[in-house]
Amino acid sequence: MRLPFLIDFQTQYMKLFYVRARLLWENFSCDTHHDTRLIDSAFYELALSFHERSCEDGAADIRDRNDSPADSGTLYNLIRRIILRDLVDRHPDVAALIFRLSDYDYHYGTDLDRGTDPARYRAVMSRRIAPDVLELMRIRNRLAIELGYNCYRSLVFDIEDIDQAGLTALLNRHLEENLDAARSIASDHAITLTPGWLDGLHHIGRAPCSMSPESAIFELTRQLGLHRAADRIRITCRDNGFGYTSVIAFRDIHILSGPLDSLSAWGTLFHEAGHAIACAMNMESGLFGTWSAGFDEAMAEVIEPVAARMLLDREQQTSLRDIGILTSCRCALSALFEFALWDDPSQAEKLFSDFFSRLVTGTGDPALWVFDTFRSIDPFYIYHYVVGHRLAERIFEHLTVQAGADHEKWGEWLIRRFYADGRKRSLVKKTAESGVGDLWLL
Ligand SMILES: [Zn+2]
Repeated sequence: MRLPFLIDFQTQYMKLFYVRARLLWENFSCDTHHDTRLIDSAFYELALSFHERSCEDGAADIRDRNDSPADSGTLYNLIRRIILRDLVDRHPDVAALIFRLSDYDYHYGTDLDRGTDPARYRAVMSRRIAPDVLELMRIRNRLAIELGYNCYRSLVFDIEDIDQAGLTALLNRHLEENLDAARSIASDHAITLTPGWLDGLHHIGRAPCSMSPESAIFELTRQLGLHRAADRIRITCRDNGFGYTSVIAFRDIHILSGPLDSLSAWGTLFHEAGHAIACAMNMESGLFGTWSAGFDEAMAEVIEPVAARMLLDREQQTSLRDIGILTSCRCALSALFEFALWDDPSQAEKLFSDFFSRLVTGTGDPALWVFDTFRSIDPFYIYHYVVGHRLAERIFEHLTVQAGADHEKWGEWLIRRFYADGRKRSLVKKTAESGVGDLWLL
């Protein structure tokens, strides 16, 4: 007998979900070189087979389930969104290009000498990979149109519950309120633009000297009263590590960190702790135990100021706030650049210089626009950091007023309002129902 649609999809999807998470975790933390294309193609095949079944079988399944029809409807809607996204982003043509672009040194530059002149290396490389970055955009657009959308952006915004006008207004508002300060911070600390991020963030503030990452997470979760979270999170620090969180099995959560030799690196660890705590305190399992990109980044951003309040002195808190202003403005500019780029890819270099010269003087070789992984591997993602940053500020103010120094109340509030029911409610809904306001008006 065929399993009911919802359970069948969920079971198969979650198996692949954890296998993929473990492979990526090992690649980043143990220097393995697992090829994830096989698993991506399994996700694609799963989406394809259920896409054909989804309308009829899903509706019948919702009708036949009498345990909780509301949950069945929510689960069906979530599955439909996952399927549509995977039909594009795990399509074999997309996966093949992402695979090459994710390791461009190896796939495009084996004949190039990286050591002698890094600037020249990057200049040559950027021109080699640009055609494939643009081709990837074209393929995503084509696949989205085949699924009935106007373009890839509308598909992403529809399935991620994003109000395009609200988001654009939020990004512009963030820049109006913060860009002048961000420019000053960048100039005071000699921060420069790098392909994909910022260089010199380690100049801002000073790192805490007598704290280990384990003791930081322990103290943070203890103060918030989230004791179970600490038991479910493990940290790996490596010299070549970077901020990354992975859930490799149900409630088996791992954080990867680089050397904690600057305040900025500690900020990244706090951010990762936010990802990890939200996963650890999610009471749901299966697909409701997973997360949307917007929710994931917002919960990471929420913990940054909370951890700073609990673990850093006043001066460090101010410096970390400065880092947040600067990086959130870079993300906002990057998102607006991305929207303009998809409107007119032929102007990529000009748009890159126009947008980023609002933050730093001297944006360098405009051909470097292609290196930002958000242009290829994670498109329509970077704005989540800005939305999350603004939500984090609002939640921090709200809890300071409502609960003051009673940090266990902060933890209880976060569980009740955001963590516990996982993916059953969207971030937009959770934010509205939490009493901090409309997400797009923050
Ligand atoms: Zn994150």
